[in-house]
Amino acid sequence: SADFDVVVVGGGAAGIGVTASLLRRRPDLRIAVIEPSDKHYYQPAWTLVGGGAFDVKKTVRPTRSVMPSRATWLHAAAAGFEPQANRVRLADGRSVTYQQLIVCPGLRLAWDKIDGLSDALGKHGVTSNYRYDLAPYTWESVRSMQEGQALFTQPAMPIKCAGAPQKAMYLACDHWRRVGVLGRMQVEFDLAGAALFGVPAYVPPLMRYVESYGIDLAFNSTLVAVDGPARKAWFDRKGADGAVSRVEKSFGMLHAVPPQVPHDVVRDSALADAAGWCEVDPGTLRHVRFDNVFGLGDGISTSNAKTAAAARKQIVTVAENLIAVREGHAMPVTYDGYGSCPLTVERGRIVLAEFGYGGKLLPTFPLDPTVPRKSAWFLKATLLPWIYWNGMLRGREWLARPLGN
Ligand code: FAD
Repeated sequence: SADFDVVVVGGGAAGIGVTASLLRRRPDLRIAVIEPSDKHYYQPAWTLVGGGAFDVKKTVRPTRSVMPSRATWLHAAAAGFEPQANRVRLADGRSVTYQQLIVCPGLRLAWDKIDGLSDALGKHGVTSNYRYDLAPYTWESVRSMQEGQALFTQPAMPIKCAGAPQKAMYLACDHWRRVGVLGRMQVEFDLAGAALFGVPAYVPPLMRYVESYGIDLAFNSTLVAVDGPARKAWFDRKGADGAVSRVEKSFGMLHAVPPQVPHDVVRDSALADAAGWCEVDPGTLRHVRFDNVFGLGDGISTSNAKTAAAARKQIVTVAENLIAVREGHAMPVTYDGYGSCPLTVERGRIVLAEFGYGGKLLPTFPLDPTVPRKSAWFLKATLLPWIYWNGMLRGREWLARPLGN
């Protein structure tokens, strides 16, 4: 017989949340969570940290403190999937077997794909809100800039929280405007893609901020190399004719967002789709080839926005459907692709972008979702962190239900 009823790979937002939700429904399930890190992060607040509006220390807790007490924590990384044998190999040499598997190890931030970036980070004004230790340095860099060139970059999709690269920029511009130096700054947003935001309804309100801050947009412009001490960055820019040219830019500050890829352990397994993501059905979140495997969070093949908000809704889908499969019923829940990206367009105001598959708008509140609001800032800066730690990670789904669940 199997070591565990359910093995969960990854103890991040999705893994802890789904474990807690399963145990609320079926307290006797024997669940193991495979998680190598002894720290658990609330990443959505790093945007606010980079804007000087949130204490970074409040975004981390010991994994031990968020692990549901009835679950078994296997403190190691998953190193190999053997779904035909219902077995996961661990990096420390152990292996575990399961009746059902949940795959949620998130994604890999591929800093290494940009020449010189890893060495440059944290010095010479080179920063990124995508790391706990660097988000405070974003704010430090913003505050120390009085004039000159500030570069913000966005890699090819998919990335987690697709709005985060521009959120960092708007909060920086807002600060520069407040202290009266925005007119002396040249701010440029280099996007690998061809659109400011993937859901067209949100582009006009964002463009109004781009114009009011005087930001230059460079589409089809991909960061490829950084020299920190020389304060230079290189971009590959695709012109209208499709030809790519290398552009060199000097900077006083560079906010870089790394390319984002599936973890090797998923990509190199039978669970992966052609691109390397764990291949699940977009509605049921069950694996398309292995009936006893489910997936959720940033590491799956679905086209929703990779956000904690999406995970919050996926948790309910996986918990309900996995139990139905165990107990021989039809799967009751269909995920609609809900995700949310609270766009911090200025300090104190947010455009709360909520949408599902196909860019369908799914606003929680009966208000025009494209209007920047103070209430949405309060939601993001105060309510959502609390709901995350006390609701989502503890399987108290009713706490999150008014917010799209
Ligand atoms: P994670 O929370 O990243 O957790 C993955 C876990 O898997 C980690 O604990 C990791 O240690 C573990 N792991 C990795 N490899 C292995 C392995 N081999 N074996 C076992 N475990 C492994 N979301 C929003 O909803 N709203 C926002 O405003 C927002 N803003 C963001 C801003 C920034 C700067 C960033 C970085 C993210 C933001 N997000 C936002 C996205 C959100 O944080 C993620 O979508 C969410 O954390 C996804 O949950 P997850 O469990 O899939 O991945």
